[in-house]
Amino acid sequence: MSSCVLVIDDSAAIREQVLRTLKEVAVFDRYKEAKDGLEGFKTLIESKADLVICDVDMPRMDGFKFLQLVDARPELQGVPIIMLTGMMDFNSKIRGLEQGASDYLTKPFDSGELVARVKVQLKIKSLQDELKKANELLKRLTNIDHLTNLFNRRYLAEILDGEFFRARRKNEHLSLIIVDIDYFKTVNDTYGHQNGDVVLAAVASLAQSQLRVYDSAARYGGEEFVLVIPGTSLHGGVMVAERLRQAVLEYSFPSPMEDMTVTVSAGVATFPSPQIDSVDSLFRQADEALYRAKQNGRNRVETMLVTA
Ligand code: GH3
Ligand code: MG
Ligand code: MG
Repeated sequence: MSSCVLVIDDSAAIREQVLRTLKEVAVFDRYKEAKDGLEGFKTLIESKADLVICDVDMPRMDGFKFLQLVDARPELQGVPIIMLTGMMDFNSKIRGLEQGASDYLTKPFDSGELVARVKVQLKIKSLQDELKKANELLKRLTNIDHLTNLFNRRYLAEILDGEFFRARRKNEHLSLIIVDIDYFKTVNDTYGHQNGDVVLAAVASLAQSQLRVYDSAARYGGEEFVLVIPGTSLHGGVMVAERLRQAVLEYSFPSPMEDMTVTVSAGVATFPSPQIDSVDSLFRQADEALYRAKQNGRNRVETMLVTA
């Protein structure tokens, strides 16, 4: 990936000196410059840089104002900024660091020091990026069921707590669907556990494909899935469950299961309702509906019993 540095200074001579020094050691692939904070900010917005070197004293917009603007833009967080300050200007150094600058250099600067400080900042940035990636991966591993790629049960609890709280506060619907594969034990017994896993992953993917952006799907147990559908009435929830039931019924599984028909049963419950005052009771209502779907012959969707 090509890396870019942006040098902001009202003095063309300083810009030239900084750029020449950096080009000599070829730390970057692209070099940009700007005459003041405003031009620098616009340049940075147009295309993000990997490092910024910015003068403090400039006409139109100084380095402090530039730091403030950068601080207000989430997409620019983490871009290292090295301030260029006057030799005796201690206040500027402290103020710059307090306002988000990563480091400072005193003018007139020594070329070796400039290069060394730039490299330190790039090293810190790259370590921070790695840490961020590792954290994202860790979060994924903690929240996702690896067989189906759906959220796991632990994370489902977190999502449901948040969605229930939101639905109650905003007085909005929240539908919950529990889906269970019918006679799944027979699939395992007939085709083996590994093929059983293929079926689980396929049903999970069909479930996922029914959802909109704010909906979530989780693997709740072995062959049980839960769909969380915010802002959706019982009627809407039933439509989602029916679509999934139909999609599973029509799905062609790969060999050796091409002649096999898999069905699912589902129970739907929706907040608000007189019998639902918590995540637990929402779950219980959906689970009881699922039980009735099984009792009534499977391959069907049942809803909670709505009492007046
Ligand atoms: P019902 O229609 O009443 O739901 O019957 P069922 O056979 O689907 O239900 P049961 O709860 O008796 O069996 C579920 C089976 O799911 C038993 C278990 O071995 C299997 N199972 C659970 N987790 C996994 C898994 O990760 N992979 C595979 N292949 N099978 C699993
Ligand atoms: Mg089952
Ligand atoms: Mg089950």
